[in-house]
Amino acid sequence: MPIDATQPYDDQNIFAKILRGEIPNRTVYEDEWALAFHDINPQAPEHVLVIPKGAYVCWDDFSAKASDAEIAGFVRAVGHVARTMGLVEPGYRLLANTGLDAHQEVPHLHVHIFGGKPLGPMLMR
Ligand code: 5GP
Repeated sequence: MPIDATQPYDDQNIFAKILRGEIPNRTVYEDEWALAFHDINPQAPEHVLVIPKGAYVCWDDFSAKASDAEIAGFVRAVGHVARTMGLVEPGYRLLANTGLDAHQEVPHLHVHIFGGKPLGPMLMR
């Protein structure tokens, strides 16, 4: 079910549980600011999720409330993961679904990294 991105942060969401180590994940990268792990239901040959360590519902919440250090750390982590996955030369796509129309399902900010094949046009029409 898509979530309302204006709701308060729910610390029982699945990615909060992953951050607390209550649910396993296939970690690709972790640092002070971010955790990156394989999506459980990959939509491309390479499909990794990058989440901030802080409690932010979505991109809007993060961009409005996160500190400059959190934002810089998270953005650098996304770039680092894509680079170390070898995706810069072939190319990759980032996606951050926010709220109902975008069909965001997990209410903790996550950036999808897709790659590993030509990804086609940006959106289905
Ligand atoms: P959204 O639609 O919110 O942008 O995407 C949520 C993503 O989280 C989906 O691609 C879904 O497959 C992934 N996902 C949901 N639950 C889990 C989980 O428990 N572990 C992992 N690794 N991915 C999950």
